[in-house]
Amino acid sequence: MNKLPEYIAELSQSVQKLWSLMNPCTLCPRNCGVNRSEKTGYCGIGASPVVSSVGPHFGEESVLVGSSGSGTIFFAGCNLRCIFCQNYDISHQRRGKEITVKQLSEAMLSLAEQGCTNINLVTPSHVASACAAAIEIARKDGLTLPVVYNSGGYDSVETLKLLDGLIDIYMPDMKYSDQQTAGELSDAPNYPEVNFAAVKEMHRQVGDLEIENGIAVKGLLIRHLVLPENLAGSEKIIDFLADEISTSTAINIMDQYHPCYKADEHPKLNRRADHREISDIYDYAALKGLKVIS
Ligand code: SF4
Repeated sequence: MNKLPEYIAELSQSVQKLWSLMNPCTLCPRNCGVNRSEKTGYCGIGASPVVSSVGPHFGEESVLVGSSGSGTIFFAGCNLRCIFCQNYDISHQRRGKEITVKQLSEAMLSLAEQGCTNINLVTPSHVASACAAAIEIARKDGLTLPVVYNSGGYDSVETLKLLDGLIDIYMPDMKYSDQQTAGELSDAPNYPEVNFAAVKEMHRQVGDLEIENGIAVKGLLIRHLVLPENLAGSEKIIDFLADEISTSTAINIMDQYHPCYKADEHPKLNRRADHREISDIYDYAALKGLKVIS
């Protein structure tokens, strides 16, 4: 292992350990094994994060937006290759600017100064080390807002354990319950088992979603995108949440799927999910007692 950068060596043991997970890189379930300060792995990003945008965002769930917007930081690169990605210019083409950990912490403080409701880290899994370091520095410099970990749900339990105490709200996707579909659509056949284990660990840390005065302050919020032809295997995901996490799990069942990127090339993905396909999933989540939010 290379020597840790001096400013990282001054931070907590958890952050130092997260940093060391980047050489060889096992930060996420891809386990590429590269030294991130010298080369990039599957996610295409080195040790420093690449940020595509920073600012208040009003398109998130109402419990995250409040009156001043969710303070989003969009990271370029991704550890998944979804063929229907709506942000492929950011995730696959990695459009953005490389920044330091210090600049990332300053971005968090600037969003707080603008009155944002929270700090919303979008696609953070492959840059979790830098995020953890920046949160710790920003907290020391006065950041008090809840921090949201808004991931594709392809997160390793080891990394999540090291984030314990730094993240207030986990908002992972639960994309698929079927291995073959996950392999075909996101190049991640082990997505279901990895995702279920990650969600368990996230819930262990923060519990069910807590909302105060209409604003989420802590807990787990699941995002699930309904795909046409039930490609997402939605019922199995809902069963898992109700039976193995909590019947009070908050879930946003998203109906906005539309063909993007390479989706037109897939015979089942080249249309939107229809009204019946979507309402069936809403009904099933309600039947299982989940807390459906939008
Ligand atoms: S974070 Fe990137 S380099 Fe590291 S294991 Fe995941 S995909 Fe590979």
